[in-house]
Amino acid sequence: MQFSEFGLDERILEGIDAMGYETATPVQEQVMIPILEGKDIIASAQTGTGKTAAFLLPLLHKLITESHDEHHINAMIIVPTRELAVQIAENLEALSYFTSVSSIAVYGGGDGSSFVTEKKALSSGADIVICTPGRMIAHMNMGYVKTQELKYLVLDEADRMLDMGFHDDLMRIISKLPAKRQNLLFSATMPAKMRELARKILHNPAEINIAVSKPPEQIVQEAFIVYEPQKMPLIKNLLSSRDFQSVIIFCSSKQSVKQLAQSLKRANFSIEEIHSDLDQQKREQVLLDFRNKRLKILVATDVLSRGIDIEDIDLVINFDVPHDGEDYIHRIGRTARAASTGTAYTLVSEPEQYKFARIEQLLGHPVTKAPVPQQFGETPAYNPKARRDGGRQKRPGHPQRKGPPPRHRRQREN
Ligand code: AMP
Repeated sequence: MQFSEFGLDERILEGIDAMGYETATPVQEQVMIPILEGKDIIASAQTGTGKTAAFLLPLLHKLITESHDEHHINAMIIVPTRELAVQIAENLEALSYFTSVSSIAVYGGGDGSSFVTEKKALSSGADIVICTPGRMIAHMNMGYVKTQELKYLVLDEADRMLDMGFHDDLMRIISKLPAKRQNLLFSATMPAKMRELARKILHNPAEINIAVSKPPEQIVQEAFIVYEPQKMPLIKNLLSSRDFQSVIIFCSSKQSVKQLAQSLKRANFSIEEIHSDLDQQKREQVLLDFRNKRLKILVATDVLSRGIDIEDIDLVINFDVPHDGEDYIHRIGRTARAASTGTAYTLVSEPEQYKFARIEQLLGHPVTKAPVPQQFGETPAYNPKARRDGGRQKRPGHPQRKGPPPRHRRQREN
């Protein structure tokens, strides 16, 4: 689903565009509409699914389009750790770049000056406050936190907060908030104590459950961090490095399937391609040859990543990084079926690093970065965060009412 279909404010769409998000993730598709409709929600969704933007985007839209008092706190996002607070603040800073929504991250462990900055924002108002429970209690105990007008409460990674013993702190914070507010609860798991908490604080919530599968453990996953032009020669090198019996190479588009297939044929590899431009008969023939092991290497689009059951594939190569974690899991799940072992290589170019880091987040661990053979020369460092930010400065923890960015200003002056 395209972000424009949610009816989000133009300034938010600009932020989404600047972040490079193309389409909404499944969590975003399911969560954003009920939030925009004003419903409470309880969603089981893990990190890496795009859940942060799933609540930030509708919150931003509501703050921009509905009247609110700038001298109070309008939305509070409570999270278990300082790291998560910083991460959400960074995300918010980027997504709200073209708006004038103000925000501050409030978490422990800083110096005295950050406490003073936080105090100032909490007593004079900030549209969105992202906080850890202990630090918020410390401020609330001093009596200046302006929560009387609060409209939105988000509990993120709520199961972790309960595991860390924050139940009573949470209830104390919530007791200071207006009873009439919209509540959004996110949790990777839903143990009984979570349901109990949900019963206490949510009103008639929409329940959203996004189960994310995990790849089988016996798959050896490796990534090669390369420049785009290094991919083609590296594939040839990988295919020649061991005697693989059955290999699928996935590409995201028909064009790249065709180009790669042509190049591999020229290099005398026994390969065929499969994508939606082939007629049904040809596709079936290719698949049959592949199943019967008459054909060793298949270059395919994602058409083949779901549903088609082929046994004994020993190598899957992702020529490019799949759009999302689910696609990755489906692609690599073609190998190591039926308890055998398998290998999955992913070739990651510089612009794809950020997308790959998202997949690693969803997997819950980094994928081993394999050394690229020396003959390929210099390769880029793996630094997905720097590549995503594109050098844009963000300062989580500093309350700001942002004016329009320079590009915007210039357009207005003309
Ligand atoms: P989260 O699950 O919120 O931690 O998000 C994981 C990563 O996915 C973050 O780096 C987000 O910036 C990114 N992300 C969120 N939504 C999208 C989207 N629709 N398309 C691409 N990336 C996204």
